Amino acid sequence: MHDHRKLGRELGLFGTDPLIGAGLPYWLPAGAAVRHALEEYLRELERRAGYQHVYSPVLGKRELYEMSGHWSHYRDDMYPPMELGGEHLVLRPVLCPHHALLYRSRGRSYRELPLRLAELGGQYRAERSGVLGGLTRVRAMQLNDAHIFCSADQAAGEARAALALIRQVYAALGIEPARYRLSLRGPGGKYVGDPGIWDQAAVMLAGVLDDSGLDWEAAEGEAAFYGPKIDVQVADASEREATLSTVQVDFYQPVRFVLHYTGPDGASRRPVMVHRSIVGSMERAVAHLIERHGGAFPDWLAPEQLVVLPVADAQDPAAAAVARRATGLGLRARVASPDSGTLNRRIRSSRLVPYQAVIGEREAAGGQVAVRLRDGRRLPPLPADAALAGIAAHAAAHRTDLWAAGGPP
Ligand SMILES: [Zn+2]
Repeated sequence: MHDHRKLGRELGLFGTDPLIGAGLPYWLPAGAAVRHALEEYLRELERRAGYQHVYSPVLGKRELYEMSGHWSHYRDDMYPPMELGGEHLVLRPVLCPHHALLYRSRGRSYRELPLRLAELGGQYRAERSGVLGGLTRVRAMQLNDAHIFCSADQAAGEARAALALIRQVYAALGIEPARYRLSLRGPGGKYVGDPGIWDQAAVMLAGVLDDSGLDWEAAEGEAAFYGPKIDVQVADASEREATLSTVQVDFYQPVRFVLHYTGPDGASRRPVMVHRSIVGSMERAVAHLIERHGGAFPDWLAPEQLVVLPVADAQDPAAAAVARRATGLGLRARVASPDSGTLNRRIRSSRLVPYQAVIGEREAAGGQVAVRLRDGRRLPPLPADAALAGIAAHAAAHRTDLWAAGGPP
């Protein structure tokens, strides 16, 4: 595997500036294109899975995190409060408290459950400066997050569906978990709530893992302070493990935030909160994708999906027209003109781009392109419109292979 920091620099994906500060990377156009493709895919997938998207502020009053318990159990990882007009505002360490408030913004009926609220939102961690680097140790991150508010007997099914969604996304991204971990509480006083409730949640999550047919292992001392969770672990370039995805069944926050809904009999009931993140933060997810693919992203994620290569200056207008049509179909396309080097040199410098459309004299005259795939395969000349439509349809299908319609097997 590759080091995402080195490749990120070489491929112009992201960077940092001492004036912005350590652990606060910015995204360059190529990196932003990868992240945007990932975000669009996740939003659409979540929408189809019955999630509703919300936005909530990245700041909240200190009292909010006192209520959630983060202020007493997680304060070392939080930024100090900003005083303004006699109030203390804090950069949020997690999204959960905001979503709990959205849930209780009005009365809820059992008919609305499960209520799945999703947000791609900012959260902040006061990491010490010595450990910061690349996209994996950062002080600000955008989390692919969701909270499912449901009845107690819906919770296992919702957790199982979230785990299935995680596995579907990993297949589309071409990544594999290092292992599935059931993270339990350990010794020490940092865990809150009734031990019986912890056991109930742990048994439920173990059942979800078993039902999904996965090998998993339990790890003590890795739980959140308020409950156990399933962590999907991935390995980085130096074989260090990190958590990318999580599914958590939480009986604690609904009590802290006094959440309820009206049951079929008219009685007030307490919902369960299922916290889940499919790919974790955009920062960590893209870092892992860079390392896993060495910059040769699946076609739907690639910063440039198509490079158009006129053989000689005379084919420049035809190449520009093909690139324009590709852009119109939603593809990220660019022309590499002869003034940037010989054809072979241009092909080599575009070696990470999934598709290269070569246009010589004959192709220009016939409205065709000769497509070369990143893996070295060459397709016979095809009508340009058919090739572009095929590539666009393949990219929209979120696959990890390359489009090769009409080509040799
Ligand atoms: Zn949460």
